[in-house]
Amino acid sequence: MKTLCVVGSLNVDLTIRLPRFHLPGETITAKTLDTYPGGKGGNQAVAAARLGKPTLMVGILGEDNNGDFYRSALAENGVDARCVGSSRELPTGTAIIEVDDRGENRIAILPGTNALLDIAYAQSVLDPILRRDICMMQFEIDIGTVCYIARALREAGKMVILDPAPAAPAPDELYRNVDYITPNATELSMLSGLPVTTDADVKKAARALLARGMKAVIAKLGERGCMYVDATEAYAVPGFAVETVDTTAAGDSFNAGLAVALSEGKAMRDALVFANAVGALSTSGAGAQSSMPTMAQVEAFLASR
Ligand code: ADP
Repeated sequence: MKTLCVVGSLNVDLTIRLPRFHLPGETITAKTLDTYPGGKGGNQAVAAARLGKPTLMVGILGEDNNGDFYRSALAENGVDARCVGSSRELPTGTAIIEVDDRGENRIAILPGTNALLDIAYAQSVLDPILRRDICMMQFEIDIGTVCYIARALREAGKMVILDPAPAAPAPDELYRNVDYITPNATELSMLSGLPVTTDADVKKAARALLARGMKAVIAKLGERGCMYVDATEAYAVPGFAVETVDTTAAGDSFNAGLAVALSEGKAMRDALVFANAVGALSTSGAGAQSSMPTMAQVEAFLASR
């Protein structure tokens, strides 16, 4: 059984539900306001812990109410927070999330203490990171830090799953040190500079990205599921039809599902079916982390299909 770690962002999400997204200059009445722990890093760590893997989280929180709130959430979910630092310099990272009646979302992020996760901090926690077998990272922290950690992990022979979200330019050296990148359709289009609508587009854009050096591209395609593309093969793995309430963190849940399945030695196709199930189940409730399924829920869901 392989062990997991996440290096990434921890944000408190302030989520309002709206009937529809409003136009610039327009004021509309929101239905509810909720406060949730979120951020792509924390989401991926909590999703993996919910699936029964006591994942090591590397990140930084503020010494404020939101930071305390987040620490409790990590503890409740069984995330190993020994490498979560704290700082008075900046507020805990905050995301303002709007969710409309269709379950679509729009997000604005204040990085806060996530901006302090630099190479010096990474060096201070490198030993515990290198003791884990599979590391998940995203683009909500400094990309130089992501590059530094990916290089160290590659030198140590570990697996890196990179979620290039939100899409941002990164050096080819990073991609050469990554095993799997997991863009959604928008990120795949932005990173490849190609349009991504049909499955043929996904394949073409993923092939263009492969030239940058990663082992494989796993494109996340919402309710359609995902597509795996490497130098020798490309195949789609269809998604699961579910009642969608809120798609926030579907992609993070998918990544955690993928990492957990690979850590248990599942073959890639089976791991992607499992990841699709985790992603689909996470859309059936509100909030980023509260709707993430347990292993028992995923197994029951897969057995019922
Ligand atoms: P992101 O959340 O990063 O934008 P996606 O929307 O593609 O990424 O969602 C990630 C994964 O979650 C998908 O690949 C799929 O497995 C699952 N998923 C997302 N939305 C749905 C949905 N409406 N129905 C079923 N599965 C979904």
